[in-house]
Amino acid sequence: MVTALTAATAIGPDGPIHDAVILLEDGRIRAAGTREQVQIPDNAEGKDFGSNVLAPGFLDIHIHGAAGYDVMQADSAGLAKVQGMLAKHGVTSYCPTTVTAPLDTTLRALDRLAKAIESARPQRGQAQPIGIHTEGPFLSELRRGVHPPADLVDPSIELFERYWQAARGHIRVMTIAAELPGAIELINVAAQRGIVCSLGHSDATTDPTRDAIAAGARHATHTFNAMRPLDHRDPGVLGVVLDDDRVTADIIADGVHVDPSVVELFLKAKGPERAVLITDAISATGMPAGTYQLGSFLVEVCGETCSYQGKLAGSVLTMDRAVRNVMAFAGWDLGAAVRLASRNPARVVGSSKTKGVLAPGADADIVVLSPAGEVLQTICRGAA
Ligand SMILES: [Zn+2]
Repeated sequence: MVTALTAATAIGPDGPIHDAVILLEDGRIRAAGTREQVQIPDNAEGKDFGSNVLAPGFLDIHIHGAAGYDVMQADSAGLAKVQGMLAKHGVTSYCPTTVTAPLDTTLRALDRLAKAIESARPQRGQAQPIGIHTEGPFLSELRRGVHPPADLVDPSIELFERYWQAARGHIRVMTIAAELPGAIELINVAAQRGIVCSLGHSDATTDPTRDAIAAGARHATHTFNAMRPLDHRDPGVLGVVLDDDRVTADIIADGVHVDPSVVELFLKAKGPERAVLITDAISATGMPAGTYQLGSFLVEVCGETCSYQGKLAGSVLTMDRAVRNVMAFAGWDLGAAVRLASRNPARVVGSSKTKGVLAPGADADIVVLSPAGEVLQTICRGAA
């Protein structure tokens, strides 16, 4: 069965497609282009979205939970709630993200998340878990944020191997502090295995940061937050990450974690090809104010702010709002802002052929947006 989506505009890989047609078949995109370029088959089921915008589904590479559930604790019913909330906000695939926790808690969570990844079938209104992001335990004590200090450890290839086994190879992103003893060796091993080594929760000065990049680190985790601040005589991790074109970087664009003017500065530094939006959302996302789980501890949530012992602890940001914030904070147009939540994160995690792009052969992950960026409908691998 072929479905033909039509709309005034689609956000194509090379820019806007006006008077757009996207053909979907068997959960994949068969064709994408203008009405002149794409012939709609006679037997296709048509869905017209009028003056709205067809965009690639969003990919969130840093998310801890939503709808009252934490990805480290949730069973499959709980994960389904998380995935339902994600899809409501335009996210069609995600990297469930662990926080620093006792070893056995983490190993159990990795096993459960690996199962979820292996068994994820295309389903209406359900974002797909595509790989795990391990945020911890190889983080700086000084820049740990709310990660429990008792569970932080120095980078260890042996411990990493236990994680890798428990996750059955489904670790896609690892946040690591470059300055810790053993970090460069571990980055070497992990990068060769195809893991995205992401610099973060780090107090690294310039030299260890450069060594980490030489060893294969290619990304940065929630830039500015839990990071040694910029010193103009010692650029450190932040200065190097903002400047080095080999490194992509993500940011929490909720207006709380980073001032809107600094979000704009970040976008100027990393540009439309290398900036990535994440939510760092926790279980409280989409829920009323109160107390919520993040990994093994409880976080107070009030309005836009999640805190634990006076420190920021994740967010209640949703990806569609992050996209609209980029438009508001930096004056970017919808198409450019959407790429920071689709094409760019897909490139970071090595899924650019199947995710984050409206092109033949890619998964039929599509979000229908109003011209202002409000989510109207989300299609997950063809399931609408
Ligand atoms: Zn996080």
